[in-house]
Amino acid sequence: MHKDTFMLGQWLDWTLDDERPSPRIGRFASGSYHLHRPGILELTPNILRPDARACVFSAAIHGNETAPVELLGEWLAALEASTLQLGAPVLVILGNIPALKAQQRYITTNLNRLFKRELADQGDEPERARQLMEAVDTFYARHHALPRLHYDLHTAIRGSLHTRFAVEPFAESATDPEQWEWLAAADMQAVLHQHQHSWTFSHYSKHYHGAQAFTFELGQVAPFGHNDMDALAPMLTLISALGSGYTPPSQSASTMAFYRVQHELMRHSEDFTLCFDEDVPNFSRFDIGTCLAKDAAAGDFVVEETPLHVVFPNAQVEIGARAALLVAPERTAN
Ligand SMILES: [Zn+2]
Repeated sequence: MHKDTFMLGQWLDWTLDDERPSPRIGRFASGSYHLHRPGILELTPNILRPDARACVFSAAIHGNETAPVELLGEWLAALEASTLQLGAPVLVILGNIPALKAQQRYITTNLNRLFKRELADQGDEPERARQLMEAVDTFYARHHALPRLHYDLHTAIRGSLHTRFAVEPFAESATDPEQWEWLAAADMQAVLHQHQHSWTFSHYSKHYHGAQAFTFELGQVAPFGHNDMDALAPMLTLISALGSGYTPPSQSASTMAFYRVQHELMRHSEDFTLCFDEDVPNFSRFDIGTCLAKDAAAGDFVVEETPLHVVFPNAQVEIGARAALLVAPERTAN
């Protein structure tokens, strides 16, 4: 069934229901839209504000992470209702639509490790990664005069000692200090600096386009309708300000804890176990001398020199993949 009138606030529901709105190009009060493909919606403002950035907001790169989809739905509904005005170009992305429908993290492979230009893999998720990379390339090229920004919104599989945190991808370009102040005002509790390239979606925009880019972990995975959206109100304020082309609220970054990755714990063999309960919250701390993993090929991994905190542990990953990030606190933002 085709929809006669495009409603921004309905777009996410239609995407899930496989309903293609027509027309795919049109207007709303403060701008125009272009639905390039399912899950790839570009918004162009009638009036470009002086502080506007070229913004990419993405969600559902992992299909079972629904809170960010609801968050972007609220923002689009506010644009539709004209309670917010669009003042910056925005590319809104729903990443893995088949996985979102199935309420699964992914269908055949983790989409968020495929954002690499030389990607040769075949299959649904690699094909989707190529579509998303092309959409981002085209969008940033169209708005080449504007500063670039990409916020990729996720929720985590497990609990976390810091409920909401941002992962800063590793790249040559630096993060603007103002970003930390925006993140603090958006009620992020921690920032994790990556120590090497990882081929995530936010890394793609930072590495290839020099965008200010983060992966956000906005609480714990829950089905649609069971997310604590009140806790995400400050994040909605940040998204809304950027979409309106205004400078977002800021707050001292000293309210956030900063960590840097020290080591990636890799699974090297079939016979691999983590030495701790895999359900431990993200950022759980392990003292010097603690054994964290046993691997038939790599041997035991024991904490040396400095206590380490564990983030994203998962012993079930494929051989050669990352089973956990081991991180240590830092005193300052950079
Ligand atoms: Zn995720």
